[in-house]
Amino acid sequence: MPLNDESILNLPFLHIRKCEDRNPVLIEADYTGPVRCPHCESVQLRKKCPFVRRVRHESIGERLVWLILRGYKYLCRGCGRYFRQRFEGLLPYQCATEPFRNEVCQDHHDGICQRQLARRTGLGSATIERWYHRFLTRKMAERKNAPCPRVLGIDEHFFTRKDGYATTFCDLQHHRVYHVVLGRSEAALESYLAKLPDKHRVRVVCIDLSSSYREIVRRHFPRAQIVADRFHVMRLIGHTIHQLWRQLDPVQSRNRGLRSLLRRRADRLEPDQAQNLGRYLQAHPAIEALYCFKQELWELLRPAGLNPSACRPRIREFLARIQQLKEAPMSSLVTLGQTLEAWQDEIARMWRFSRNNGITEGFHNKMEMISRRAFGFKNFDNYRLRVRACCC
Ligand SMILES: [Zn+2]
Repeated sequence: MPLNDESILNLPFLHIRKCEDRNPVLIEADYTGPVRCPHCESVQLRKKCPFVRRVRHESIGERLVWLILRGYKYLCRGCGRYFRQRFEGLLPYQCATEPFRNEVCQDHHDGICQRQLARRTGLGSATIERWYHRFLTRKMAERKNAPCPRVLGIDEHFFTRKDGYATTFCDLQHHRVYHVVLGRSEAALESYLAKLPDKHRVRVVCIDLSSSYREIVRRHFPRAQIVADRFHVMRLIGHTIHQLWRQLDPVQSRNRGLRSLLRRRADRLEPDQAQNLGRYLQAHPAIEALYCFKQELWELLRPAGLNPSACRPRIREFLARIQQLKEAPMSSLVTLGQTLEAWQDEIARMWRFSRNNGITEGFHNKMEMISRRAFGFKNFDNYRLRVRACCC
């Protein structure tokens, strides 16, 4: 198809009359489309005096573009009112066409800061902010009726010192943030969850080991199965063993190299690292027992996406481990055993499902970046709007 004026300008019903090749490029164009009265839709019109609109338009390469549009003022014979004709792709009273506004907003969305954009385009940063806000609102409106996700990840993250924490609801199937709500207690989330449509669609909810979230999920998503987040379970086990090691050997536990070796997975150690660790553990049999126990428990809990028959022997072994922990002489091990027992169903489900809150944690990183790029948010609604538009 040959290029015509409309496809060059990316606006319908325009005919280029004159084009000045300089920077910024000046394009004079005439409107060739139909004209209707904006009040009564009538086409019975009488042409009155001409007028000119000088507006910004999308760039040609690196060069800025000014569009000079000529139109007419009309008198409507239907309703007797005067009006200035409208141009498609250019809203009334605006000094820039929609393609140009989209270009600026997309650049800002892709990470170019307001100040740079303002310098490049000659707009004010407040204008860019206003345009971008409208861009995000429109983007969110497209997702307004999105149904509640089937696999939901719930986790908290820090918002501001004044407002405290916020809770993220993440669609783990499609890797996007479904919603962000201020607060993390049941009372704070109550009003949002009570109004949430299609709650019955949610089949799996992934949470960390927080009993308040468990209560919320049980109450609001009765058909969903709760799955503990693998990372948090592993970290809890690792943390407990590490604390005990610090009690047993306060001197060597300050050695950062050794600390790093003990924290890692045994199968990921280099041969010389394994040798170093082996030498230390041989000299300290109590610590070796703890270390082996942690590694075995990690190994037991790590697999994901197993079928029910593969889970059965693991469940038996897991229950035996919990019993072992509860009978241990150290109080912190007993506490760990009690916690694992209280969450045994949710932890056992980790073997069946492969999704975990790693996706949610990843989005938390991105949210922190968004917050830093904006030098912090005061208004939670603005923050939520930006997070939802960017984390999808
Ligand atoms: Zn009219």
